Amino acid sequence: MTYSTIADRAAASEQLIVNAILPDLQGVKPNRSRNGWNFFCPLEHRKKNAPAAIWVNDEGWISVHCFDCRRNDQLRQTLVTPHLRNRPSPPPVAPYQPTSPPPRQQRNYLPARIWADTEAIPNGAGHPARRWLANRNLWRPEVEAPAPLRWLPASRTRPGPHIGAGSLVALLANPTAWAEAWPRLPNPQAVEIVAVDREGKPALDRPRQDGGLDKRTLGEKTGAVLILGDPRLASIETPVRVAEGVADAMALAARFSGPAVASMGDAGMNAGGFAVWLANAAEGVVIHADNDAAGQKAASRLCGAVLVHGGTARAVLPPEGKDAGVVSSMNSFTELTESWPGYAQTLAEMNGWPRWEAQRQAALLMEEVPA
Ligand SMILES: [Zn+2]
Repeated sequence: MTYSTIADRAAASEQLIVNAILPDLQGVKPNRSRNGWNFFCPLEHRKKNAPAAIWVNDEGWISVHCFDCRRNDQLRQTLVTPHLRNRPSPPPVAPYQPTSPPPRQQRNYLPARIWADTEAIPNGAGHPARRWLANRNLWRPEVEAPAPLRWLPASRTRPGPHIGAGSLVALLANPTAWAEAWPRLPNPQAVEIVAVDREGKPALDRPRQDGGLDKRTLGEKTGAVLILGDPRLASIETPVRVAEGVADAMALAARFSGPAVASMGDAGMNAGGFAVWLANAAEGVVIHADNDAAGQKAASRLCGAVLVHGGTARAVLPPEGKDAGVVSSMNSFTELTESWPGYAQTLAEMNGWPRWEAQRQAALLMEEVPA
């Protein structure tokens, strides 16, 4: 028997999933975005309850995907193939599926899930995330951590086990999504995680032999950036600052009042659409290049692209060291006047800013002039 239409095939596939496959699975829940189901991957995993999905794809075949191990061929072999042996019909399974990326909604599922597991970074000096910031003078200890930067405790790190205390998690999205969401946060298109130990020193998000990294970007990276501050560039009154990395953007946001953007690498600097967005900046763009060949090349290309799109831009090089934030983060912060918290409150009310942004701006305006 062959299926005369895709609809016939899809119906057969759905029957097979519902009647034969789902009953053997754990953690089954509807997956509305794909009109399919989520479940826990039954393959051997370091982490229990690894999320996976099964659905009928647009061709009427059964698709499976494990968000954790991505051993989709093996997962298909385990879940689908045994049910096909006694069937007279050809298998409602795609003949060959290269490790195809899952549909867009599902790619976005992973960063959203990680983000949902994070918690706010507290004020004060003792927290590992605060120690990471303090070790490099990236952010004032008095000022709330920016909302797009949060903390994922080691216990919630998948697949783990995390070697340190946890990870800083930076939210990444495309500039349009940032601008539309402000003063709230956009949905995470990707996240960058930075694993640290209790002292805020680099750690690994899983054991080295399991591919542990101290820094990892997850999700749809293309065009995804971190923006600290007001992303509506056409209406801001100070230049927007651009650097490659999250730490550099933090150091810049703590020292300049305009928004600071982490392009996420030299490729991000030259990603389509980025220069077009930057060209809107009312007061222009300052690109803080990494002081290496790739960084300088990316910065000068971005500069040129912003100019081509009618904006103004200049690139600055740190006189020494590799990263853009290195120079600024060598300077420690001066004291704040006593009135800065009240001023922050006023700025938040006047501008509708989130509290961290009001505190950042107030701190920049209310620094004691060093004697
Ligand atoms: Zn799996």
